[in-house]
Amino acid sequence: MQVTASVTSPMQLAVMGNPIGHSRSPLIHQAFAKALGLAVNYVRLEVPLDAFASGVADFFDGGGSGANVTLPFKQQAFALCQELSTRAQVAGAVNTLWRNHGVLCGDNTDGFGLVRDMRINQGWQLAGRRLLILGAGGAVRGILQPLYAAGVTDISVANRTLARAQTLAADMRQHGINIKPLALADIGGEYDLVINAISAGLTGDMPALPNTLLNNASCCYDLVYGKTLTPFTRWAQYQGCREVADGLGMLVEQAAASFEGWTGQRPATIEVIEELRNAT
Ligand code: NAP
Repeated sequence: MQVTASVTSPMQLAVMGNPIGHSRSPLIHQAFAKALGLAVNYVRLEVPLDAFASGVADFFDGGGSGANVTLPFKQQAFALCQELSTRAQVAGAVNTLWRNHGVLCGDNTDGFGLVRDMRINQGWQLAGRRLLILGAGGAVRGILQPLYAAGVTDISVANRTLARAQTLAADMRQHGINIKPLALADIGGEYDLVINAISAGLTGDMPALPNTLLNNASCCYDLVYGKTLTPFTRWAQYQGCREVADGLGMLVEQAAASFEGWTGQRPATIEVIEELRNAT
């Protein structure tokens, strides 16, 4: 990525989505910039649903250096890019954009952020672990390659709609990633790691899960995050697992990876995670 940050002229960064008012990305990136003494102007851009391509072009033509992309545009961003990182290719989605000599480039830092949070911040061992992922949506597509690269090769993906998990498995096989697709109703066995990527997780509507999935060495991660335990992490604790974590760390770590790509400087993340946790 480009290295264009300076202390004199602010680097123009943005997050593009619709809706976007809830996004915490400006808070996170401004905290990174402040800690590193960089002049950065990071804004939320609500892009009309039918005008993502022109929104991206306008932003970069107008001097933008880098943009994050969130719902519902991650797949459109992928399609728009002329150059893609491997992890973006596997994910089929892009959350980080920049231009390099006029060429639109895309990366997907979501899975990297998750793996870094689990491995570095939580101190969890990943390599060789048996992993169950609940859900087979866009977020799961984004996390599989970085998990696989981190040595997690025994991966089951359980989804309410089995066909979606099977399609995901077929797509991943083309990238040399083997996962076992399951229907949510058919989950069995015991796992070292369980990641929840079911989007109903914040509202309390978690599907019923067997109480044989975890043991006292299992670790459970919820991509969803909240002020208190999520329904999934509460369930996991009740099952007597070793540790739980929610997706706030992933959010900050994926942002840090984007920020480092744009500025060439790696921000500290722990303080920002704590700041957000206290403000949640
Ligand atoms: P998505 O593409 O809409 O996929 C949603 C998934 O949830 C699907 O697998 C869907 O199953 C399942 N689901 C929804 N309601 C369900 C229910 N009542 N019972 C069982 N399964 C249900 O969403 P996504 O983009 O993958 O995001 C998943 C979650 O991760 C969201 O909550 C999102 O906010 C979170 N996330 C967090 C971060 C972070 O940085 N922490 C990053 C990305 C995403 P079907 O296929 O059967 O519909």
